Amino acid sequence: MTEKGKLIVVSGPSGAGKSTVIARVMKDDPDVAFSVSATTRAPRKGEVEGRDYHFVDRAFFEKMIENAELLEHAQYVGDYYGTPKLPAFENIEAGKSVIFDVEVQGAAQIKLKCPEAVLIFIIPSDFSQIEKRLRGRNTDSEEKIARRIETARREYAMAEKYDYIVINDDPDTAANEMKAIITAEKCRASYRKKYLNEVSL
Ligand code: 5GP
Repeated sequence: MTEKGKLIVVSGPSGAGKSTVIARVMKDDPDVAFSVSATTRAPRKGEVEGRDYHFVDRAFFEKMIENAELLEHAQYVGDYYGTPKLPAFENIEAGKSVIFDVEVQGAAQIKLKCPEAVLIFIIPSDFSQIEKRLRGRNTDSEEKIARRIETARREYAMAEKYDYIVINDDPDTAANEMKAIITAEKCRASYRKKYLNEVSL
C-alpha cells in the first residue's frame, strides 16, 4: 500500500523568497509536488501559466468558489488566490508530498480542514530584506509595494502559530531546512506504523 503524501503548507510575507526555496526543494526531491494555485492577479515576467499559477479572471474564480472546486481561497492585496482541490489530493493519494504556497488565511483554512497539514513559515533573518526584495522585483506599483509591506507586518504576527520557521537569507540553506522538515515529518512514528504492524508476535 502506498503511504499517502504529506501536506506541506508554506507561508511567509511577499518578498521572503518562498518560490525560489520551494523550486530548490522540488528540484532535489522528485516525491514533492507543487499545488498550482488559481489567481486573478496578472502574471509577472517569467511566470508560466499552469506552472506558477492558473491565471484566471474574477468571474472564472467566483465560479470555482461556487462549484466548491477550491480547498481554500482568500483575497490578498486586492486579488483572489485559491487552491484547486482535485490535483492536490490526487498527488497526496499517489504518495507525493504536496507544497501549498498560501498566505496566512489560506493556511488556517487548510489546517482546519486537514489537521495533519504541516505548517512552515518562511522569513529572512532581517525584516528590511522584505522591502529590498519587493523593490528589486520592479513589477509592482509603489502603492502595491506599500500594501505588501503592511500585509507582511500583519503576517509576522501569525508566525508563532506555525509548526516550523525557516530562515531564508540563502536559498540553499533555506531549502535544506525545508527538506529536513519534510524528512523528519515522514519519520514520525505515527506515519511509520505500517512497519510495526507487519511484525506479528
Ligand atoms: P504573489 O502575488 O506574491 O505570488 O502571492 C501573494 C500571496 O498569495 C503570497 O503570500 C502567496 O503565498 C499567497 N498565495 C498564493 N497562492 C495562494 C492560494 O492558493 N491561496 C492563498 N490563500 N494564498 C495564496
